Amino acid sequence: KFERGHFYLRQGDVLAFHRTFHRFSHKGDFGKVLFLGSELGKSGAINLSGYAALRTGSGLVHIAPFMEDPFRMIPIVPELMLYQDSSKTSLNQFDAIGIGPGWGMDVDKDYFQSIFARFKKPMVIDADGLNLLAKYPELLKEIPQNSILTPHLKEFERLVGESANHLERIEKASSLAKANKVIVILKGAHTLIALPDGRKIFNSTGNQYMATAGSGDVLTGMLTSFLGQGYAPENAAICGVFHHGLAGEIASKSKLRGMIASDIIESIPDTFIKLN
Ligand code: AMP
Ligand code: MG
Repeated sequence: KFERGHFYLRQGDVLAFHRTFHRFSHKGDFGKVLFLGSELGKSGAINLSGYAALRTGSGLVHIAPFMEDPFRMIPIVPELMLYQDSSKTSLNQFDAIGIGPGWGMDVDKDYFQSIFARFKKPMVIDADGLNLLAKYPELLKEIPQNSILTPHLKEFERLVGESANHLERIEKASSLAKANKVIVILKGAHTLIALPDGRKIFNSTGNQYMATAGSGDVLTGMLTSFLGQGYAPENAAICGVFHHGLAGEIASKSKLRGMIASDIIESIPDTFIKLN
């Protein structure tokens, strides 16, 4: 479908990628995912990601706050489970992981690097995960192939430097994707999905009311959820970005500028109803 040049992502494209689950599915079929992030004072970040993953259909969702005693944090919904990560434990039990929201910059290099050694499947890297990559660019080559990077404009600049204009920025995103064999999601109005093979896809959903705290954490949760449900990374990126924007559109109908990230999450199920 997306063979040539630039593409504009629409409803019909996304519907074709949806996985269906049969009558005898069990929660293992829907994937087990984990989010690493949230230093002290930023508990909300991975809570939002985790809650968004649940609403996107994940079977089991764990969150691991970057805190001395992670079990003291209280998840925003009881369906979320807490997890304590260490650089020694394997992460293989998880189908997908999302790292970075609210993490802070006190994460040391060895621990950060250990994640790429302990989890070899595609992962989602956002927020301070990206800022850490900007700080340790030598680690870019250790990211598992087809992982999904989700910078907003500032995070993108930290990674690749400033661009003279938007066209140059698009090319830089594409180069970053190709050079590192990752998927780069450059967020904003009409988010760009730059694929490792050079294709560039622009999203059609979303609106200005999504410019609110935690909006990106929700996207990270949705992308990780789709990965964990067995979607190929490219399809997870496409579905995640499209449904995220659609959830924002639906939620903003009744909230307008009062919309908050939690409202976007509450509207995720409506996006599947709308596309069915
Ligand atoms: P973050 O800055 O990490 O919280 O991410 C913000 C999220 O909101 C991204 O998914 C953006 O694509 C989305 N967003 C922000 N502003 C707009 C806008 N004006 N139109 C559409 N989506 C937006
Ligand atoms: Mg963000």
